Amino acid sequence: MDLRPVTLGADEATKQYYQDLVAQHGSPLLVYDPFVLKQQYKALHATLPNVALYYAVKAHPDSHIVNTIDELGGGFDIASAGEMDVLLQHQISGRRTIHTHPVKKDKEIRDALRFGATTFVVDNLDEIKKLLPYRSRVGVLLRISFRSKSAAVDLSKKFGCTPEEAITLALDAAKLDIHIKGLSFHVGSQCLNSDKHVEAIAACHELITTINTQVESPLSVLDIGGGFPADYANTGIDIEQFCAPIKAALAKLPNDWHLIAEPGRYLIAPAVISITTVTGKSMRNGFRWYYLDDGVYGSYSGQIFDHATYPLQVLKDGDCHASIVAGPTCDSIDVIAENIQLPELEIGDLLIGHQMGAYTAATKTRFNSIPEAKLVVNDSTPTT
Ligand SMILES: *Cc1c(COP(=O)(O)O)cnc(C)c1O
Repeated sequence: MDLRPVTLGADEATKQYYQDLVAQHGSPLLVYDPFVLKQQYKALHATLPNVALYYAVKAHPDSHIVNTIDELGGGFDIASAGEMDVLLQHQISGRRTIHTHPVKKDKEIRDALRFGATTFVVDNLDEIKKLLPYRSRVGVLLRISFRSKSAAVDLSKKFGCTPEEAITLALDAAKLDIHIKGLSFHVGSQCLNSDKHVEAIAACHELITTINTQVESPLSVLDIGGGFPADYANTGIDIEQFCAPIKAALAKLPNDWHLIAEPGRYLIAPAVISITTVTGKSMRNGFRWYYLDDGVYGSYSGQIFDHATYPLQVLKDGDCHASIVAGPTCDSIDVIAENIQLPELEIGDLLIGHQMGAYTAATKTRFNSIPEAKLVVNDSTPTT
C-alpha cells in the first residue's frame, strides 16, 4: 500500500488552470512558480538571518530558477563546470558561489577559479595538495562527516573526514601554507528534525576552537550544509520550528564567525508541480492501471534516486478503486504509485504531482527516447 497523500478533485478555477496549461504547452509539464521559491527563501532567511544562503544548484539547475535566486540576491552552491555554465548564462559572478565538491580534477579547479569562485571544499590531504598551485587565491573549507540515520538521503557516507582527521588536516594544510578558513558538513537531505545539525554545529564549534589554538590564521567560517525538509507528507512543515534549535546552537558561536547554509530541497521542492496526462488504461489482476506520459525515468526519477514519494492529485472525485499509475517507458519499474485509491480516470485526464521541484528533473533520463517534460513558468502569481 502506497501511503502518500492523494488529493481527489479541485475547484473549477484550479482545474481550468491545469487544463489551460496543457492546452497551451502540451503534456507532460513541470510548472515552476517563482513566487513560491521567493516565499521559501524569505522564510528560511527570516528564521536564520545571520546565515548566508547558497542555493544548491544540483537540486534543480534550471535557468529560470537560478534567475529567481539571482533576483533574491542569494548565493549558489556549485559542484561542476556544468553548473557554472548555468550561472554564466545569467552573468552571475563566481564570487557569489562556493564550490562544494570534495573531489575535483585540476581542470575543474582552474575553471572555477577563472569563473571567480574562491571557496573550495576538501576532505583529505590529496585534495588539499591539488590546491597548492592556487593557494594564494583560495579559501578552503574542510568537510566533516556526521552520519545521520533520520535523513532520507545520507550525504556523509561518501564524503567528509572524521572530526579527529580534521585537526590533522588543518595542521597539514597550514604547513603547506593553504588557508583553511572553516568547516562544512551536510548531515543528509530531507532531515526529519534538526538534531543532527545541532550536534554537528556543537562538534564543529569545539573542533574550530581546538584547531585555532594551533594555527596562525584562525578558522572563522561554518557551513551547515542543507537538509532542510520538503513537505512530502502534507503535514505542514514549520521551518521556524525546524530551525529554532539550529538558531540556538548557532547563537553559541563567536559572533564574528561567517555562517553559510546550502539549501536545495527546502527552497525548490514546493515551487514546482508536475502535470501528466493519462494516455492509456487497463484492468489487470484487480487493479486499474493508468499509463501516463511521464514517469520514473522522467520527472518522477526522484522516486528512484532520491527516495521521495510525491503527493498526487487528480481533478475528479467519486468512488475509488485500487489503482496503479505507471510511466510511459516499456520498463516494469516505471511505476509511480503501486496501490492508491483513485476514482475512475479516463484517457486525457490529468494527474498532478506536488512538491516536485527538487531532485526530479535534475535526475531525469531520456530512456526509450521519450520526450522530457517541458518546464513552464507560472507568472500569474504576484512575484514580489
Ligand atoms: C545536495 C547538497 C546540498 C543540498 O542539500 P538539500 O538537502 O537539498 O538542502 C547542499 N550541499 C551539498 C554539499 C550537497 O551535496
